[in-house]
Amino acid sequence: MKINEIFRSINGEWNLFGQGSWATFIRMQGCTLGIGGCSYCDTKQAQDGELGSECSSKEIHKAVQQLHCQNILITGGEPFEQEGDLSLLCRLLKDSGYFISVETNGTHCVENLIPNVDCFIVDWKGPSAISEDVFNYKNLNCLREKDLIKHVILNEGDYQFAKEKAIVYKQFNHVFSPCLSEDIEKNVMQASMLYNKMEKDSLFHVKFNYQIHKLIGCK
Ligand code: SF4
Repeated sequence: MKINEIFRSINGEWNLFGQGSWATFIRMQGCTLGIGGCSYCDTKQAQDGELGSECSSKEIHKAVQQLHCQNILITGGEPFEQEGDLSLLCRLLKDSGYFISVETNGTHCVENLIPNVDCFIVDWKGPSAISEDVFNYKNLNCLREKDLIKHVILNEGDYQFAKEKAIVYKQFNHVFSPCLSEDIEKNVMQASMLYNKMEKDSLFHVKFNYQIHKLIGCK
């Protein structure tokens, strides 16, 4: 399968295995939304499915073992672009006792991978990311209590879009995450505005997420 990178870092986002916990990250190459993709994409290097390194599941397993973390986060790009290989990899890692999370852009249905994945973080892209709603609604039939629907909020349009989804589909775990840039001061202001809006709108069933890895400049 095509891999962009494998590395160890802290998990900077809200997730079943805990923000701040150490994890091995497997970044798969290629994205459904293609080159250009989301307006605020911070992993442009993983968008092009023609790039990346070809690795077997066994090679990835070996690389993961050498990084000594129990938690594994598979991300991209879009992991489901290589669903067959992704499925085999998750099974291999699960059989070896790892705890597996998969981040996906929400355009694919996660159902087939449920037996071998502990937690899915499924994006629901707002209007500032991409003009049409690309979310795969079949996910609403299979997401579990422990899975998350993540909304990245860049502006008021995104907030209103995410708020509506979080109210209509209240039975799911929603996470609102301010869209961060290189400007730390602006990030704090944006995060604080989001917090205030959520409180004013009584979105107390929605989790607030801040990407702490970006505060300390790590991956
Ligand atoms: S889905 Fe992810 S990898 Fe693809 S363009 Fe959007 S942010 Fe980038």
